[in-house]
Amino acid sequence: MLPLPTAPSSWALFLDFDGTLTEIAATPDAVKIHQDLPALLQQLSAAMDGALAIVSGRGISQIDAFLAPARLAVAGLHGLETRKAEEGIKQIDRHRPELEDVKQAMAGLVAGDSRLLLEDKQLTVALHFRNAPDRAEDCRKTVQSVISARPALELLEGKMVLEARPCGMNKGKAIQAFMQASPFRGRRPVMVGDDVTDEDGFKVVNDLQGLTIKVGPGPTSARHRLATVGDVLIWLKQMRDTFGSVA
Ligand SMILES: [Mg+2]
Repeated sequence: MLPLPTAPSSWALFLDFDGTLTEIAATPDAVKIHQDLPALLQQLSAAMDGALAIVSGRGISQIDAFLAPARLAVAGLHGLETRKAEEGIKQIDRHRPELEDVKQAMAGLVAGDSRLLLEDKQLTVALHFRNAPDRAEDCRKTVQSVISARPALELLEGKMVLEARPCGMNKGKAIQAFMQASPFRGRRPVMVGDDVTDEDGFKVVNDLQGLTIKVGPGPTSARHRLATVGDVLIWLKQMRDTFGSVA
C-alpha cells in the first residue's frame, strides 16, 4: 500500500513530467495536459509553502507553458536550469560547444528519415525515434559514436529518445540542490517518475529516507509503484484533499 503524506509542512514533492503527470505523446509538443492538473499542482504547492518541484528533461519555459497559469518550482533540462516558484531561472553554466557536433550528426539522421525528430534544447540536444522504432539501433550507434569521442558529454537514453547532455548533472543532484534550501530543507522528500533518468532521483530520495514511486513497469530502485498517469493524478488529488483538511 502506497503511503499518503498527510502533513503538508513535513513533505517535499518532486515530480517528473512526461510519463508521470502526462501521457507520453507521439511528439514532445503533442502532450495533452489533464484539465485539472495545473490547479491541482498549484493547490498542492500552496499547501506545502512552495515545496513542490517539477523535475524534467524539458526546459523550464516549456513546463511553464504546459502548466499555465500554475508557476511552480522547476528543475529543467535534468537540473541544468532551476527555478523556485517566486524566483527567476538560474542556468548552470555548462554550455558545451561539442554539443554542436552531436546536433549535426542527429540532423543528418533526421534528414534521411522524416519520422525522426530533433529537439534542440540549447544546453542539451535530443533525438526522438518514437515514430521510427526500427531505427533505434542505428540511431543509438551513430549518436553514441559521436558522444563517446567527446568526454564532456554523456548519452542519456529515455523512452524512445537519445539525448546528449553535459556530464555531471542529473535529477538526483537537482533534488539535492533543492533540499539544501528553503522551502525544501528539513522536509521528507517524495519523488515520482517513470523513466531511467528518474533513477538518479530515486537513489537520492531513498538515501534521505523519503518516498520513491515508479510509474509503470520496468526495473527501478523506487520502493513503491503506481501503474498509470491516471493513478498518479488520483494519488495527488487524495493528497491535496488530505492537506486541505489539515490546513
Ligand atoms: Mg518521464
